[in-house]
Amino acid sequence: MSERIDIAVIGAGPAGLNAGLYAARARLAVAVFERGSPGGQVLTTSEVENYLGFESISGPELAQTFETHARNSGADIRHFVDVEKILPATDPLVGHEIVTGEGSVFAGAVIIVTGASPNKLGVPGEEQFAGRGVSYCATCDGNFFRGKNVAVIGGGDTAVEDALYLSHIVGNVTVVHRRDELRAQKVLQERLFERSNVEFAWNSKLGEVKGDDISVTGIALTDPDGNSSTSIDVHGVFVAVGLKPNTQVVPDGVKMEDGWVITDQRMHTNIPGLFAAGDIRQNALKQISVSVGESAVAATEAGRYLDEIGWDTVGIKVDAEEAVS
Ligand code: NAP
Repeated sequence: MSERIDIAVIGAGPAGLNAGLYAARARLAVAVFERGSPGGQVLTTSEVENYLGFESISGPELAQTFETHARNSGADIRHFVDVEKILPATDPLVGHEIVTGEGSVFAGAVIIVTGASPNKLGVPGEEQFAGRGVSYCATCDGNFFRGKNVAVIGGGDTAVEDALYLSHIVGNVTVVHRRDELRAQKVLQERLFERSNVEFAWNSKLGEVKGDDISVTGIALTDPDGNSSTSIDVHGVFVAVGLKPNTQVVPDGVKMEDGWVITDQRMHTNIPGLFAAGDIRQNALKQISVSVGESAVAATEAGRYLDEIGWDTVGIKVDAEEAVS
């Protein structure tokens, strides 16, 4: 017989782990499915300085803190489990089917928190040199470029944080931005402008990544219209030009706009029992604090939904000692 749980959470970034925490504290049987390691994008962030209560904490450390808290509260975190698809319930009391590589699980409610991934630029050489000089994660790959010159493409929070992080490791960083003003938070911009080994190529776009048989040797830059090419010598190119939603497991029929999932204010999608929160949603701000807040709403609403449909709760057993403390 297939396994039955109360709430399935798809994705174990901050939104997923917090949904797990809230559902477990409501004593609902909740499983958080994650195809990789728990943490999401926080894992690839060097320092987090804008999550209340932590003036400065490394991304991996914060991710570990989130995971430990969710797990200790009773959330069943299943990492390295690939969710292949979600089949929305035809009978709400049977539940939604979560099809994984390890079999199917039926859940009364599903919270989709699969987040977003870095965009690619699609310029010549980008794909060819991916992993050989082109990177989408400064904290993962920065050390390969110790003492060398690199470029960061983009002007948002990610690009500026990447440039700050890399400036401690590499020789020189050139930030390539298509306008003459950064989009990133002012506090990060101020810090970046003070770095002596950071230069800016304003009003410039990446035209091409050049290299030899082994790795990247330079990049060609163009003006915003794609004209007048100039070249700079770099060994690494860090692309940080925004995010695209990870919607692979979002079932057909879920309302989306420009690829982002639409929910109401209480995180309900248009399919009963299916909720979404965090970066995958069409929301105003992609931040840990926003993801965590939205997922608290989603988990609470999922619990209410189960009550409303008269779901026969599986629940989590709590030992007497813990219940008293
Ligand atoms: P973002 O804020 O969307 O910024 C993307 C940057 O890439 C922009 O500067 C944009 O230029 C540029 N860009 C986009 N498409 C481009 C193209 N085709 N060619 C050249 N440049 C291009 O993305 P992000 O920095 O990855 O951040 C994503 C979200 O996560 C944001 O909401 C951000 O605030 C959040 N985030 C927060 C933190 C933090 O709070 N510590 C850290 C990282 C990310 P324009 O400015 O001209 O549009």
